[in-house]
Amino acid sequence: MLDFQAILESIQKNATEAPDKGAVATYIPELAHISKDNFGIHLRTSDGKSYGAGDFNKPFSIQSISKVLALSKAMSLIGENIWKRMDVEPSGHPFNQLALLEIENGIPRNPFINSGAIVIADILLSNLENPKEDFLNYVRDLTNDQTIEYNQAVADSEKRTGFKNYAAANLLKSFKNLDNPVNDVLDFYFQQCSLEMTCSQLTKTFSFLANKGTCMLDKVRLTETQAKRINAIMLTCGFYDEAGEFAFEVGLPGKSGVGGGIVALLPDNFTIATWSPGLNKKGNSKLGMLALEAFTTKTKLSIF
Ligand code: GLN
Repeated sequence: MLDFQAILESIQKNATEAPDKGAVATYIPELAHISKDNFGIHLRTSDGKSYGAGDFNKPFSIQSISKVLALSKAMSLIGENIWKRMDVEPSGHPFNQLALLEIENGIPRNPFINSGAIVIADILLSNLENPKEDFLNYVRDLTNDQTIEYNQAVADSEKRTGFKNYAAANLLKSFKNLDNPVNDVLDFYFQQCSLEMTCSQLTKTFSFLANKGTCMLDKVRLTETQAKRINAIMLTCGFYDEAGEFAFEVGLPGKSGVGGGIVALLPDNFTIATWSPGLNKKGNSKLGMLALEAFTTKTKLSIF
């Protein structure tokens, strides 16, 4: 019998003592002052048990982790039509790469690089009555937690400095792959990325993907096929140009964000979330990756 609590505590201890904790993202000014010493890890098993160590109840900016939730909402709204406007191939490039967009006629490689996520934001904007409110309620219902909020200061800060995202959105617009005005789409996209959540909330939110599309409350439901597809895209595209490394070292579908969070899951088994704000050179949490590698190595629980 695995002692999950002891495993998480030993991972947290190693993280606390790590000599190199990576570098906090500074291109979003509001994220620049978050301490690298934060570290949280939380595990939720499909049979209803949960375990945590460190700062697993402290909210942080989930950033690109929100792209998975936006994709799942878009899937429930327009289904397979999403794939007319983007592909599902790993990009092998950083999250904010623009070059491929130019070459591939405005069709983003996948929904988790920024250009793909901006198209998803456009889809949500066209299909939701009150986009910001409706998306927030969707995440709250998935999590069964009405306390989840956006962080307006983070959204405003990115609105002032997200120049590459403006470039990507303009390029998409020039290829007619955005229906709404560029500023409206980015206003929604930055808001979505500013969601604040804890590791413990994230393991709840993502339970539906470990549970064939059915969430705890049963208010929100994807089909089994849709859940399988999202997990496949997380495995192949969830870590940008480090997706191969994550599959190689950790072996779980997952998603990272520049706020230093990572969520990963083993279908029918568990969801796990880590938060450590220091990033590696590819923009993924340095200690979060190491923690998840240690977890799947110690427990031998991975999709492989
Ligand atoms: N909001 C961030 C951006 O668009 C999200 C990037 C990330 O978390 N990798 O640049």
